[in-house]
Amino acid sequence: FRTLGEVLDAAAEQHGDHEAYVEPGRARITFAEFARASDGLAGALAARGIGHGDVVALMLPSSIDFAVCYAAAARLGAVTTGLNTRLGPREVAAVLERARPALVIRDAGAGLPEPPAGIPVLARTDLAATYDGPGLAAPVGVAPTDPVVIIWTSGTTGTPKGAWFDSRNLAAAATAAGVMSAPYDRRLVATPFAHAGYLAKLWDQLAWGITMVISPVPWSAPEMARILREERITVAGGVPTQWAKLLEEPETGPLPHLRVGIAATAPAPPELVEKTAARLGVPLVVRYAMTESPTICGTEPDDPPEIQFRTVGRPQEGTELLLTDDAGRPVPAGEVGRVRVRGGCVMRGYWNQPELTAEVLTPDGWLISGDFGSFDATGNLVLSGRASDVYIRGGYNVYPLEVENVLSQHPGVAKVAVVGAPAPVIGEIGVAFVVPANPASPPTRDVLRGWTRERLADYKAPDRVEIVPELPLTAMLKVDRHALRARC
Ligand code: ATP
Ligand code: MG
Repeated sequence: FRTLGEVLDAAAEQHGDHEAYVEPGRARITFAEFARASDGLAGALAARGIGHGDVVALMLPSSIDFAVCYAAAARLGAVTTGLNTRLGPREVAAVLERARPALVIRDAGAGLPEPPAGIPVLARTDLAATYDGPGLAAPVGVAPTDPVVIIWTSGTTGTPKGAWFDSRNLAAAATAAGVMSAPYDRRLVATPFAHAGYLAKLWDQLAWGITMVISPVPWSAPEMARILREERITVAGGVPTQWAKLLEEPETGPLPHLRVGIAATAPAPPELVEKTAARLGVPLVVRYAMTESPTICGTEPDDPPEIQFRTVGRPQEGTELLLTDDAGRPVPAGEVGRVRVRGGCVMRGYWNQPELTAEVLTPDGWLISGDFGSFDATGNLVLSGRASDVYIRGGYNVYPLEVENVLSQHPGVAKVAVVGAPAPVIGEIGVAFVVPANPASPPTRDVLRGWTRERLADYKAPDRVEIVPELPLTAMLKVDRHALRARC
């Protein structure tokens, strides 16, 4: 078994002259330079007393420095955790309180609030000087089961939770990457480095000699269009909102180098998949993943559009899925159940939260995802949404995602989110927040109810329709359902 530090050195030998990271228009670093810089920083961190098991928190934007810090900490057997630069002061305090870092490496300009007093801080501006330093005197022993990284959930349903992973988890995530990785890919990373999409997948980058091109912060569609072209990107990931914005760019044309686009973390509306194929000439595959299991399911590029539209695909290599009822018993084929995930990518637990860990990890290794889903006749998983989003209207469960998927196909609807709102007598009603395709003539409640009732059971039709200019988004660019519920 190899540790991350060993994989890093092997990468420097195998693909030393290849670019490991690119900050477009700013900086580039090869695998050899990356291995060297991370050794230099590891030496400097060791000199500050950082060692095996210590937590190093990164309050940095996605950058070469971020990657070097992660690699340096891994060489020391230290545990890296990245803070999303869009977190607010309360979230930062909660995350640091739980992570108890021995050191914070911080970019004062990143927009993040200051860490609480008492935690040692290394300024980002002091990093570069360490990269040429003498490095580690001798490699630090790291066991396959030692923690390597803590990744915080998006906080869609509350305070972010810190999922932690060991080296075996990271190696498993690399094996499961499938269509997402090919040797010497040039991969555009548009989601923050602090998120699972990067932190859990560094391993396959090193193994395959993949170049990571870092999307500038703040993200912008015109810049994404330019970088895809100029950096000859072969594989690009993003949340569906980012793909949608990219396609609105007049300059976005066919991209000959691009092999595949990945729509992660939220449902990709059918027309988005179609438009991507038509305008960019590439398939947009769908991934279902969560912080607690950075690999779960995915569609394949040659899956028919119908599968890309409706489903999140099949379990990826090394991953098992089980759909259960509330008591944990398997549901009959075709029925909606609670999604459980098992496999090498599933987190070891929530950092410093044993009770919460016990709620989601069963003794036989299943992760209770908190999502509902069913397998369709083709064996693909159809997500029905989160357990916490489901509302009960007159005794019937309604899965907002299912209703949203139907409403989003109405020509008058550009974007839509459905939430349950308390109501007398029937308990809860469905409220659809709709961004109209044409603000001058928004679709009416009756039209949208009729549209839904033609396609779904009548109790799923939204009881209220609110026309809004935009949907509120969380730091991870997901629809902020808390904010919407508060408006009901
Ligand atoms: P928190 O757990 O803190 O409330 P979160 O669940 O949004 O936040 P993440 O781990 O980033 O944090 O998101 C995982 C969740 O995103 C999944 O549990 C699922 O509900 C949703 N999700 C992921 N991929 C998809 C997809 N392709 N389609 C629909 N929903 C998805
Ligand atoms: Mg979650």
